[in-house]
Order: sequence, then C-alpha cells, then structure tokens
Amino acid sequence: MQSDTVTRCAPSPTGYLHLGHAYAAGIGWLRAQQAGGRFLLRIEDIDVTRCRPEFTQAIFDDLHWLGLSWEEPVRRQSQHFADYARSLDRLQQRGLLYPCFCTRKQIQAEIAAAGHAPHGFEGAVYPGTCRHLSAGEREQRIAAGEAYALRLDMAAACQHVDGRWPLHWHDEQAGLQAVTPDLLIQGFGDVVLARKETPASYHLCVTHDDALQGITLVTRGSDLFMATHLHRLLQALFGWPVPAYAHHPFLLDETGERLAKRKNAPALRDLRAAGVTPAAVWQQAGLDPAAFPK
Ligand code: GLU
Repeated sequence: MQSDTVTRCAPSPTGYLHLGHAYAAGIGWLRAQQAGGRFLLRIEDIDVTRCRPEFTQAIFDDLHWLGLSWEEPVRRQSQHFADYARSLDRLQQRGLLYPCFCTRKQIQAEIAAAGHAPHGFEGAVYPGTCRHLSAGEREQRIAAGEAYALRLDMAAACQHVDGRWPLHWHDEQAGLQAVTPDLLIQGFGDVVLARKETPASYHLCVTHDDALQGITLVTRGSDLFMATHLHRLLQALFGWPVPAYAHHPFLLDETGERLAKRKNAPALRDLRAAGVTPAAVWQQAGLDPAAFPK
C-alpha cells in the first residue's frame, strides 16, 4: 500500500561514501520501504570548492551497488541556486537579513577583544559587528565590490514568529523538542544563510528542499540534532511544513571513534573491490541484509 511517507538521503559529494553513509542511506531507504512510502536521494553540492562531480557519480554507483533505488530525477542543489535566492529575497524584504563583510580573522579578533566567546552549537556565536552598520555604509561597501555573506538577524527573526513560541518539532527517540528565542539567539546567533563564496547555505538549502520535496521523515546523523532547532525556525518563517525527525547515532570503529572518511573508514568502493558483498556491508552496519534487495 502506498503511504504518505517520504524519506530522503542527502549526501554531500565531498569524498567517497563509507560504511557510515551506507548505514544512513540504508535507514532512510528502509523507513520508506517499511511504510510503503517513497525514498529520494538528494545531492547537497552547493559548496563548489569541496564538491566534485566524480564523487556525485560515485554516490550513485555505490548506492546502486548496495541495491538501493530512488526516484528520478535526483535533485542536485547546485542546479537550483535561483530557488534559494528567492527564499533569501523573502527574508530580505522583511528586513531579516543583513550583509556581513567580516573575514574569519576579523571575527576571531573581535571575539578575542571582547574577552569571552559565547559558545553556540556551531562554535563561537557571531558578535554582530555588521548588524550595526548604517544603510549607507552597507551600500557603499557593496558598491565597492567587497565580498559579503548574508546573515539572519536572529532577534528580529524571532520577533517575526511572535506569539507562536515555543516552536516544536519531534524526534523519534528524543521526543518533543521545544525551540525558544533564547535557544536560537544564544545557540546560533546571526547565522549565515548565504556565504561569500556560495549564494546559499546548508541550513537554508536543506530546509528549503525538505519542504519542496515533501519530505515527511528526515533521517540523519545525530550531529545535526541541534541544527534542527534552527531549521524549525526557518520553517516557521517561510510557512513550510514540519517533517518528523529521526536522528540516528553514528557508527563507531573498534576504538569507539566515529567513522570518518579521512581516518578510519574504508570507502564502499574499496570494500567492493576487495570482494566484500553488499550483504556483508549491511551486516557490518548493523542493518539486516535480508531487508534489502539482493
Ligand atoms: N548533506 C548533509 C551531509 O552530508 C546531510 C544533510 C541532512 O541530512 O540534513 O552531512
């Protein structure tokens, strides 16, 4: 029976997939399968400096080899910058974005000078330097060709969803989560929604696309658990639907360390070349090989 469940796997083609990716993709695929729903693959390749077409092709090859299939066409984020620009415009029109000209160095210096670095979920929180620039200075620096990112004015954004606090989202394991302005302001501050070198950001694109593609259940690694609070705010600002979430733990190596491309995780294609079967990969990932196509 066809159900309304839509899941997705959204890898970034910055290297070859390893066992941890197989596990993540397997969970997404299984959840769709078990619900009689749909499974999508999305290529998150907005970071043109790190993503490479050969890695995108390798994702297709490796996941096919594992026996997974997905709906075509596959959405590749790098082909949809106009979509993300339209969303940014909507925030711009409400005065919720501002250009930030700071370099990483300047931000670090600013934080050092302040003597303390409020620590957020993604490292030090931006001190807000460029939020205070006058309209004239902004215009002048943009006209002079200075590179800038677009930051969300978090406090202003929170006021835009006034009266609806706390926002809620649901994680299958952790249960109902409440999002408050304090958590967003202290945990994220004025996040970058469009980078200097890329006119979009992970947070914007992932939330946009999950809404556009009608994803009802987001399965992903627990490293993104806190990011979901921010995604929930974006959903509220844009009026996008709120999917259910299932953040899963990471596969660990025998020393208890998280599997990572550069360190301890053999690439799926190397396993394949060494004669390892897809069934053995699923087994190693702790998923039942019998649940997957042969
Ligand atoms: N593209 C992200 C990654 O490869 C995953 C995004 C997500 O599942 O929300 O880490």
